[in-house]
Amino acid sequence: MQPFDDSADVSHFINGKRENGTGTRNQPVFNPATGARPRKLLLGEAEDVAAAVASAKAAFPAWSNTPPIRRARVLLRFLELMNKHRDELAAIITAEHGKVFSDAQGEVSRGIDVIEFACGIPQLLKGDYTEQVSTGIDNWTTRQALGVVAGITPFNFPCMVPCWMFPVAIAAGNTFILKPSERDPSASLFMADLLKQAGLPDGVFNVVQGDKVVVDALLAHPDVKAVSFVGSTPIANYIYETGAKNGKRVQALGGAKNHMVVMPDADLDQAIDALVGAGYGSAGERCMAISVAVLVGDVADKIMPKLAERARTLVIKNGMEPDAEMGPIVTRQALERIEGYIAQGVQEGAKLVVDGRGLKVPGHEDGFFTGGTLFDHVTPEMRIYKEEIFGPVLACVRVKDFTEAVDLINAHEFGNGVACYTRDGHVAREFGRRIEVGMVGINVPIPVPMAWHGFGGWKRSLFGDTHAYGEEGVRFYTKQKSIMQRWPESTEKGAEFAMPTAK
Ligand code: NAD
Repeated sequence: MQPFDDSADVSHFINGKRENGTGTRNQPVFNPATGARPRKLLLGEAEDVAAAVASAKAAFPAWSNTPPIRRARVLLRFLELMNKHRDELAAIITAEHGKVFSDAQGEVSRGIDVIEFACGIPQLLKGDYTEQVSTGIDNWTTRQALGVVAGITPFNFPCMVPCWMFPVAIAAGNTFILKPSERDPSASLFMADLLKQAGLPDGVFNVVQGDKVVVDALLAHPDVKAVSFVGSTPIANYIYETGAKNGKRVQALGGAKNHMVVMPDADLDQAIDALVGAGYGSAGERCMAISVAVLVGDVADKIMPKLAERARTLVIKNGMEPDAEMGPIVTRQALERIEGYIAQGVQEGAKLVVDGRGLKVPGHEDGFFTGGTLFDHVTPEMRIYKEEIFGPVLACVRVKDFTEAVDLINAHEFGNGVACYTRDGHVAREFGRRIEVGMVGINVPIPVPMAWHGFGGWKRSLFGDTHAYGEEGVRFYTKQKSIMQRWPESTEKGAEFAMPTAK
């Protein structure tokens, strides 16, 4: 494996080796804690996509014909390497994304969960079989790989989100092209090196770095059979429409505005812990972050002082510092967007309880830091309620009762994750049944499903039919074939002109 050089250009990985590609465009990759730009990302062009697709297409026949148990063994070796290099990978993530190191370690672990799941592919690909669907005839279904498939991923989980896709896709026999985020592209190359070291044949896993040019080339390429996307809703919508128009299978996971309901009977200290961790953890740059607290009855008056105190005293510093609770924002542009939303909230009339803007971290004056921000008296027509801010800004909405809380959440355009804090089993049960959101937590603030359950939101948080990973992921990356077979005795003869029925 090549040692990780944090000053080298970030290149592509095509047909088993690092390639600089044909392009001349590049852009800086920042360390958001320091504002330094230690690396240069080489942006791919359509020619680089063509080269990656050609290598993936050439690798497909042999890889898809490799018995599933042998494909799983390659993934088992990859799993071992990911465990061995977990901290190195986490440090790369913190250096480019900014999230605190322990959070980056957690991200790698959640990616590893999916690799473990994918190692069970022989069991997952077992089809159904019916003996004797008609006299002397048997029928069975198998699931076969699609061919070359692509994944386009966001900045906020540069290891975990690609791991939602490629382990399942390649375990099922596909070959894969990853287009990582431009903001933190190094984790993808690190994993590509580990896959090679694990014995994955060249061409089965490729990385093409870049921007819209690469995405559009993947969407247009006739040999790309399916596209998995995770990112913001406008782009998810675009990927879904364009991919479908070009005849591809598409799953496109989009943005979020996740609510957490706090009922008056909840353990309020636990609810405050949950709001602080899920609202400000990873600087609010998680698709499952809680960005709206829905405070029922007198809860707001009871928790606001403590919540404000916690938001004000968050330990915000370089994510590599062991006591850091929150790191910087990924880019200066994202920081400006977030602080712009805070100004907008004030203008719209929400009560700014804690203002995180303008935070300077000593020794990191050029870093992209903002503090935790807390708004009270937010109402549904405000932009800070409707739109995804994707930063450490918690908006509190006061409602009178449970029904108003459920109606509020169900009316929102997003439906990714949601939580309800209560000690009443009936309320919890009704919440789970009535809420129009894909992933629900009862006294669990960030209910990211485990690897064998599948991840996906509802409404404008997901375009397509299947969730990521789990059995839904296996279905997405395979197509069903039904085989019907008869071995007649040689005396059976004669054409049949009626629709065959069971005899
Ligand atoms: P983004 O939509 O800006 O980028 C995602 C990917 O799309 C990147 O690889 C990027 O290069 C590419 N892209 C960006 N603009 C494009 C364009 N005009 N045409 C084609 N491709 C384009 O998202 P981001 O800022 O990297 O990530 C944050 C977003 O991702 C948030 O909205 C967050 O909610 C969402 N997200 C959702 C989930 C989920 O599971 N639903 C998970 C993680 C992140």
